[in-house]
Amino acid sequence: MAKQDYYEVLGLSKGATAAEIKKAYRKQALKYHPDKNPDDKEAEEKFKLAAEAYEVLSDPDKKARYDQFGHQAFEGAGGFGGGGMNMDDIFSQFGDIFGGAFGGGFSGFGGSRQRVVKGSNLRIRVKLTLEEIANGVEKKVKVKRKKQAPGTTYKTCGTCNGSGQVTRVTNTILGRMQTSAPCNVCGGAGQTIDKKPAGADNQGMIVSEETVSIKIPAGVVDGMQLKVASKGNEAPGNGISGDLLVAISEEEHPTLQREGDNLHYDLYISYPDAVLGTSKEIDTVTGKVRIKVEAGVQSGKILRLRGKGIPSINGYGKGDLLVHVNVWTPKTLNKQQKEFFENMRNDEHFEPKPESTDRSFFEKVKDMFS
Ligand SMILES: [Zn+2]
Repeated sequence: MAKQDYYEVLGLSKGATAAEIKKAYRKQALKYHPDKNPDDKEAEEKFKLAAEAYEVLSDPDKKARYDQFGHQAFEGAGGFGGGGMNMDDIFSQFGDIFGGAFGGGFSGFGGSRQRVVKGSNLRIRVKLTLEEIANGVEKKVKVKRKKQAPGTTYKTCGTCNGSGQVTRVTNTILGRMQTSAPCNVCGGAGQTIDKKPAGADNQGMIVSEETVSIKIPAGVVDGMQLKVASKGNEAPGNGISGDLLVAISEEEHPTLQREGDNLHYDLYISYPDAVLGTSKEIDTVTGKVRIKVEAGVQSGKILRLRGKGIPSINGYGKGDLLVHVNVWTPKTLNKQQKEFFENMRNDEHFEPKPESTDRSFFEKVKDMFS
């Protein structure tokens, strides 16, 4: 079945202004609003379709795409798929379109849809070494959580009779409307305290310290936030717990610098080592490794150790470890050493004769990112 044109859905013609689109949507939405059409599937479908049309036509970007390509513009991954918009989306996105007519709330389909009360989230910061980040780690942290005090009993809220919502019937220009809002006695939970033990707060909660184990995947980045579901504060009554939000902070490493998934290490070698070649032990995130430095190495050379960097957080591959060779120059010399270098200076063999393989540091840097 061909999908109905969005302009037709709203009773408009192409070229309608933003104000006309908004007005037309408001009209349709009020006409097919579920509170006015309880248990009417057809009205519900029309209500959803109008919201979908409005979602596209009220967004200049989407509207331009729709005007050019029609429904094809939204087929596939970026589109609405088969499901269209659900009621919660519609009310969270376009709730304001109803203005005063429906108040702030929404009672659902002819019944009381109880709001689930969620406990508040807790936030902690976890410091990780580069080694922990590279390998992934499980951290045990102590958190102070609000929990339901043992012995607390709840009773159904007498004000909303347990629905968490209070409804009101009002007369508007559109007819009699049922409006609803969260109950302000129980805060929408539908329950109030019956009995609570000593030490519990007004909601029957106590604070207790708990050890929570957090699995941190390899490749996390400083500033990233992980969520441990349901390890935040508990909610009173039959609500659900909040989450524990874990902010990652990366400790500075004494010798390795991180750049995305790559690591950099500065290696200092002496003149003789540069001239004669050597092997050196360097730090990596999985322990020390010995690397070979060829005779005649130039200062600024970058040795790339593939896969010795940080694993990608997405699980695709690993970065590299880039070892920067620096030939160390002494700042002071005694008389004998000075003579030694004077002699060397007079020897033509030590005059720089760069080859194409001894490219400049900047060219190598460019190469690294290509
Ligand atoms: Zn209540």
